Amino acid sequence: MSEEEPLFEDVKFHQKRKHGKWSEVEAPVMDVPVADTHAHVQMMRDPALSLARAGAHNVGFVEAIVDPTDDGFTTFSALPGWLMEAAGDLRRLTSEPDQEVHDCVVAVPRVRIAAGVHPHNAKDYTPALEDDLRAHLADRRVSAVGEIGLDYHYDLSPRDVQQEVFRAQIRLAKEAGLPVCLHLREAHDDGFAILSEEGFPEAGTLLHCFNLDGAEVARWVEAGCFIALGGQLTYKKFDALREAARLVPRDRLLTETDAPYMTPEPLRGTLCGPEHVIWTADALCAVLGADTPEGRASLLAQLYENALGLLDRAPTAWQREHAHA
Ligand SMILES: [Zn+2]
Repeated sequence: MSEEEPLFEDVKFHQKRKHGKWSEVEAPVMDVPVADTHAHVQMMRDPALSLARAGAHNVGFVEAIVDPTDDGFTTFSALPGWLMEAAGDLRRLTSEPDQEVHDCVVAVPRVRIAAGVHPHNAKDYTPALEDDLRAHLADRRVSAVGEIGLDYHYDLSPRDVQQEVFRAQIRLAKEAGLPVCLHLREAHDDGFAILSEEGFPEAGTLLHCFNLDGAEVARWVEAGCFIALGGQLTYKKFDALREAARLVPRDRLLTETDAPYMTPEPLRGTLCGPEHVIWTADALCAVLGADTPEGRASLLAQLYENALGLLDRAPTAWQREHAHA
């Protein structure tokens, strides 16, 4: 993530070379739409361009993550503009003669929102902020509460505060009938204990950025959670994660990016966008042995269906009731 990375106005992937040079990398072709279930869209340098690029690579769905303590609720007001601009960008980029866009019809991805206070920012969670968050959850574009959880790696908020705020937001999600998107780092025992005490939300639990092994993944799968895999799946050192992925039932796996972070290989060292999810989806096909065209298409279709089923949901009864309150 360096300042000098150019904002490429095209749909290609670019790899950093020595001496400030960049080269193009051939991208895997997705014949089936792919979902990015975790992207910080408002942190993209050009959110519209990122969404257009995602659309060009057949990313059909993006869950945009909003933390009101970071950026307020900007995404809520900016999203219609981004989508409109993205449609223009997509038309322009894919009509240029040297762009290799595959034959299927490309469109701007469908974007839904997850809103919640990250454990880093738990110290800024106040009753007034909770009221504001609750009001925004009533927006029909919201399909999850998150990312919420515990981060004992950075400990940017005191642990007791993180736990309290995690509990408050689990309750909020249950009140709203929405799933939760979890961020847990070096805190899986406490996270699991808190969810067990509060009760896993009926609408679903998504374990974001899962990067541990088969032994850890088991209890989450047993508890009914969805396991979201990002760029780390493509990293050399993460054999245990690839092993864990094979233990998750296919109807519980999700693909994500955590853009602008966690850029998958072979593009590490560059900024991640929602379009990069295709590299992770491609890696997941290899990890799960989906190597025939049919096997690959059916796995990708399943992954996409998982994402839409969990996150592209109809408004909850609570949302319908509170929509114009
Ligand atoms: Zn994130």
